[in-house]
Amino acid sequence: MPHSHHSHSGQFCKHASGLLEEVVQEAIRKRFQVYGLTEHVPRYREVDLYPEEGQFPIESLSSQFDSFVVEAHRLKSLYASQITLLVGLETEFITGLDLENLEKTLERFGDRVEYIVGSIHHVNGIPIDFDLPTYQQALASFADEKEEDRQEVFLSAYFDAQYELLRRFKPEVVGHFDLCRLYQPSLHFRDYPRVFSKIERNVRYAVQYGALFELNAAAFRKKWDTAYPAEDVVEVINSLGGRFALSDDSHGPNAVGLNYDRLPGYLQSVGVTQLWYLQQSTTPNAAGRRIQPVRLDGDWLDHGFWRQNTT
Ligand SMILES: [Zn+2]
Ligand SMILES: [Zn+2]
Repeated sequence: MPHSHHSHSGQFCKHASGLLEEVVQEAIRKRFQVYGLTEHVPRYREVDLYPEEGQFPIESLSSQFDSFVVEAHRLKSLYASQITLLVGLETEFITGLDLENLEKTLERFGDRVEYIVGSIHHVNGIPIDFDLPTYQQALASFADEKEEDRQEVFLSAYFDAQYELLRRFKPEVVGHFDLCRLYQPSLHFRDYPRVFSKIERNVRYAVQYGALFELNAAAFRKKWDTAYPAEDVVEVINSLGGRFALSDDSHGPNAVGLNYDRLPGYLQSVGVTQLWYLQQSTTPNAAGRRIQPVRLDGDWLDHGFWRQNTT
């Protein structure tokens, strides 16, 4: 303790800041023991570039990702005596092309990609976490539906995409499970029974192959009162025997461990008493990767980390 399974840096992600090495140095300074480096996989269509990427040639995302894996492993060895760095990736699922290419990427890198954070950031090919107008566009893209049904169809599409991702790749960490309500934090999934049953289906599936569910502190930075996922989803995960891991989803050294001071209170309020983290192992997991969840011994709240100023 403490640990984080999900991060980005400005060196390899245009909407983040700082060098990857600066992120690592900050994680060491903040006394992280396990820190996961997980840049986004490349995107493959010009249309999927973000405004800040401007006229970036789309192929450069692939070479950028390759350089990330090289640099992450260099840092992993260099700082091995001070911190356990895990090298992973965060998925994209915009169209089927992303999953086909993810398969190739995983094949190409083999053991050098140690684990996967399985995340969905698009619905109907449109980003849902970029800004409010783009989110509204994603919602409005279900134009064939009656307006009152759009929300439910939108959420269903998100959780169906998540399910497909889980089934095909068995990500070790399920990333920001309920990102689909980023701009509507007061939305309750129980108000949408069809959606709620998809959530239960996804959780059940992920539990069965051994995934960890990320408690992601970035939601606080997005003005939520909770981490991702919020209470209703944590309840489902708890009731189906799911296990949790912590992430800061930092986008630069300044966000390493950001809002971790708000996690203990949140975890206690939702009845999460055990935490897990990933550790390299010799036995392959359900996805064939050599990494396994380990339960934290003792009372994780006892660690001095929680008494330092982390914000
Ligand atoms: Zn993400
Ligand atoms: Zn991320």
